[in-house]
Amino acid sequence: MSQTIKQPRLLILDDDPEVGHFMVAIAQGVNFEALATTQAEDFFQALETWQPTHIALDLVMPDIDGIEILRQLGESACSATIIIISGIGSRVLEAAYRSAAKHGLTVTDTLSKPFLPEKLRSLLINSRVALASGFSVTKAHRVPSAQQAVTVVTLITAIKKKEIEVWYQPKINCKTGTLAGFEALARWLHPEVGLILPDHFIPFAEQSGLIDMLTDHIFDQALEWFSTYFSQSDIFLSLNISAHSLSDMQLADRIMAICQTHAVATDRIILEMTETSAMTDPTTTLDLLTRLRIKGLNLSIDDFGTGYSSMIRLVQLPFSELKVDKMFVINVAQSTESQNVIRAIIGLGHSLGLRITAEGVEDQAAFQFLQDEGCDLAQGYWFAQPMNGAQAAQWQLAWPTATLESSQLAKP
Ligand code: C2E
Ligand code: CA
Ligand code: CA
Repeated sequence: MSQTIKQPRLLILDDDPEVGHFMVAIAQGVNFEALATTQAEDFFQALETWQPTHIALDLVMPDIDGIEILRQLGESACSATIIIISGIGSRVLEAAYRSAAKHGLTVTDTLSKPFLPEKLRSLLINSRVALASGFSVTKAHRVPSAQQAVTVVTLITAIKKKEIEVWYQPKINCKTGTLAGFEALARWLHPEVGLILPDHFIPFAEQSGLIDMLTDHIFDQALEWFSTYFSQSDIFLSLNISAHSLSDMQLADRIMAICQTHAVATDRIILEMTETSAMTDPTTTLDLLTRLRIKGLNLSIDDFGTGYSSMIRLVQLPFSELKVDKMFVINVAQSTESQNVIRAIIGLGHSLGLRITAEGVEDQAAFQFLQDEGCDLAQGYWFAQPMNGAQAAQWQLAWPTATLESSQLAKP
């Protein structure tokens, strides 16, 4: 396991020196070293000589635009974690976020100006936790050693050696504040590279034909954990299903067999799949999803609002839950656009009899909004980050914690 614990360093590029100053103070308050630059030239010089672990980048500057900076950072294989900032609306921020991802950059979040100090503070604290845990949170395709690490042979070995762990993130009932379930999320604890996040090995597993093997491993591990700790409770377990598995007619039988092995009733399992994957091949998908439903499994449409949408399919396919993409939820308190989107999704979902979960709840304001709008379940860093099995079991014993006063949960 790589135990390189780096001193967290935030390099800021914002043409407004006051904003830079403000961010330096926040970062230093959470034990980051921080440096503010106002010019692209100084920024790139500091990038080379000072080697920041984090970058905060304003999109709109007079001498160079932020998108060009992102392109140059991508070209230089920058490994710092990036926070994109701008005062020009969440749509532009979201587009920049996607563009940065295409350049292979690690973008932790976007911030709309003006942002609350608390928002930046919690962002920095969260990513410092990853550094301090001794794991270099790695974008596999950007770091040569990690890139070499993700191969067919190493992935198969990792599955066999149980280096691919399942972590769990709670889902909270918006009305009562009680624990409603957990989402299982894959983590590769690579002995040399450190923690590799699923976005960097799940697509590889899909392309290389290893996804079924990986899914079976994840389901088996997650259901074992679930039956160990929650056989006496009525919470549910959500698991992600890859797009590539949706044409595999054996999937339903394999999932049934894993449920039986661990004596978990199928109606306590929710399978999450993305809108796009759930809807590309309508006939096979409908057959497969119907088989899964008949066997008692619940189906959830993930990342709703970002993929390929078809109202007809949404009505036709046997979903029981709709998950609002975190892109809309993260900045909901600051963005009227996001508020409108979420309101519309809740209305649409409820009119179709679906339960609505919002993911990406990072602050109390977002949770309050979801409660007020009648959202059913909420998930996000404000409640808890994904945790390993032992930590998640421990966490639920203490829930609800001081973070969430019970008074906040009472609906008027
Ligand atoms: P997803 O299914 O949309 O999962 C939610 C992602 O949002 C997780 O990222 C989670 O850690 C992150 N998240 C949760 N709360 C917050 C929050 O408040 N703020 C922010 N910024 N992020 C939050 P993660 O674990 O990196 O997973 C990424 C994606 O990888 C998942 O997105 C899912 O599509 C895929 N994935 C994860 N595990 C599996 C798996 O076992 N099988 C398959 N097929 N895909 C998986
Ligand atoms: Ca999911
Ligand atoms: Ca999602």
